[in-house]
Amino acid sequence: MPILRQIAQLGQPVLRRVAGKIADPACPAVQALIDDMLITVADANGVGIAAPQVFEPLSLFIVASRPNQRYPHARQMEPTAMINPEIVWVSDEKEKGWEGCLSIPGLRGLVPRHRRIGIRYLTWAGEMREEEYEDFQARIFQHEFDHVHGMVFVDRVESTQDLVTEKEYLRSLNL
Ligand SMILES: [Zn+2]
Repeated sequence: MPILRQIAQLGQPVLRRVAGKIADPACPAVQALIDDMLITVADANGVGIAAPQVFEPLSLFIVASRPNQRYPHARQMEPTAMINPEIVWVSDEKEKGWEGCLSIPGLRGLVPRHRRIGIRYLTWAGEMREEEYEDFQARIFQHEFDHVHGMVFVDRVESTQDLVTEKEYLRSLNL
């Protein structure tokens, strides 16, 4: 049975480590971790979660874009586990957009990201996938990709003026 994992909060050293590659995606511990992360990200109203956020310094994350309380305008997709993810190419074009993080509750930041990216990863079944992401999904991928490299979104804002509380952010959406 999958279990809800505790989410590491900013200040936990695991969030600042470079995660290690997964040698064997089929390993039962990896499969169990993916199942745990899937229910943990859904329970927390997240649109993505990386293994270091549940105290596992491994190169693995879930991208799970869907509209929810925290991201009302997100696009719906099947939650996807990505093992040993890589960015193959990026568009020159960047776009600023609002991000939050389950490890940094209560804060949102305006973060510049590449608008389109080419990515590669192993699925939960160990199959290599190559895909193109754009807009919000590309943003989620880049956010989670940072997590497996010991970075968080506040490292990416151009100015501290681009940080706001979550309450003010949601108020600005006129919800
Ligand atoms: Zn995050």
